[in-house]
Amino acid sequence: MSHNSDFNANINYCWLWKLYCPNKIKLFLWLVTHYRLPTNQHLNSICIVPSPNCYFCGEIETCKHIFMGCVIVEKH
Ligand SMILES: [Zn+2]
Repeated sequence: MSHNSDFNANINYCWLWKLYCPNKIKLFLWLVTHYRLPTNQHLNSICIVPSPNCYFCGEIETCKHIFMGCVIVEKH
């Protein structure tokens, strides 16, 4: 299973680069929208970390999980 399986290549994200904000914010948003954040799932797929699971709740840590799925992060 690919870490970016939810990425829709048909969506045009060029609007990101036209935002009036620091480049580091634009880059972060690009990474989020393209599912390229160094999540445990991605790092595990390239043998950087031993487990693809979230440190807090134990589910597979994906971009979607970090921002919308983790029940522990949601509480704080
Ligand atoms: Zn979690």
